[in-house]
Amino acid sequence: MSPSDYRRISAWLLREEQRGEALLREKKRPLSPQMAEKLARFKNAGNIVDDVYAILGGKECRCPICRDKIAVGETVLGLPCGHLFHPDCILPYLKENDRCPLCRLDIVLAFEL
Ligand SMILES: [Zn+2]
Ligand SMILES: [Zn+2]
Repeated sequence: MSPSDYRRISAWLLREEQRGEALLREKKRPLSPQMAEKLARFKNAGNIVDDVYAILGGKECRCPICRDKIAVGETVLGLPCGHLFHPDCILPYLKENDRCPLCRLDIVLAFEL
């Protein structure tokens, strides 16, 4: 095997390895119901504003999943990263994914820390 062959093969192996890791990372895992129970739920007292709207100088909070406004008095579910959702929107999603849909935070890991 010539040095150039060797370089080509090792580059290919590295690429395959990276692809495998990416696939592994993307693998969906459900969040256990016990873990879902631990997530913070609170009422929107009118004082919560999501990052994007805060930057824009706005005063509203929208659920990133349905894009609907989270109205004052409505219950909000907060992930450990601080992202807020309607419980009805995020809970079905968490039955298949254990990461925040916005920042990909590993929720299980966040609770262990
Ligand atoms: Zn929603
Ligand atoms: Zn998040």
